[in-house]
Amino acid sequence: MSGGRRDFFRDIAAAARDAAQAATPSDAAGPMPNPEGAPPPEAEGPDPWLERYSRQLVLPQWSEAAQDALGAASVLVVGAGALGSPVATYLAGAGVGRLGIVDDGEVELSNLHRQHLHFTPDVGVPKAQSAVAKLGFLNPEVVLEPYQARFDSAMVEGQDLVVDCTDSFESRYAVNAACCTARVPLVEGGVVGLGGLVMSIRPGDTACYRCAFPDAPPPGAVPSCAEAGILGPAAGVIGSLQALEAIKLLAGLPGTLAGAFLQVDLATADFLRVAVARRGDCPDCRTL
Ligand SMILES: [Zn+2]
Repeated sequence: MSGGRRDFFRDIAAAARDAAQAATPSDAAGPMPNPEGAPPPEAEGPDPWLERYSRQLVLPQWSEAAQDALGAASVLVVGAGALGSPVATYLAGAGVGRLGIVDDGEVELSNLHRQHLHFTPDVGVPKAQSAVAKLGFLNPEVVLEPYQARFDSAMVEGQDLVVDCTDSFESRYAVNAACCTARVPLVEGGVVGLGGLVMSIRPGDTACYRCAFPDAPPPGAVPSCAEAGILGPAAGVIGSLQALEAIKLLAGLPGTLAGAFLQVDLATADFLRVAVARRGDCPDCRTL
């Protein structure tokens, strides 16, 4: 655990408590007169950086170095829908330095029950633009880059991490292949109905998405959200798990899902962790 800002934060918290206790009896008598007529000195508040991140800085698993690692990171969120909403919200809130948001779609009324970065007045607005507008209010310190476009492998270059929040197997395999080629860590996720899956990938070190699922299911075998339905909180759970994985990977925390996937059945509240080994014949990562 590093000192520096954390010690400073604790000193401020202790001083605030002492001041509150000392002020309580005299408050009833009103403020002290100011014989000189000079304005009272302005109270110095806590450092806004410390204030914003204070609840994660005090975590025993966290540190100033972990916070700085987040602040120095560039993350690409592919998809600004049901999974992208919680992922981008938590990453912006946590203090990721640069956040790219990729989505070529526009907000529809049927999105709103599960895609909480978009509101009713946003219907018809490009999702990347709508998402970035909210994220900017949430944390102005984050550099936000909207991409109103389909995912392209060139977008992965220069990223420290990619979070795949798309909703088709075609796009999942494309993102996986691009991250393997560029050796950029990836957090995969998917949700439909009341079930979902999360997987973290360190290309070259742990199994990639295609190692775990060599072939896409036949067309029509897995229904879409429009066909099978979905509850908003189910997407929230999967997206939140993806955000947590991303933060752990960026900060170097242990206990990630790299080398495994988590299968989540929210109809029964069952979580199953399945270990996955790399495949020597994987077309995406065998050469790494
Ligand atoms: Zn692989």
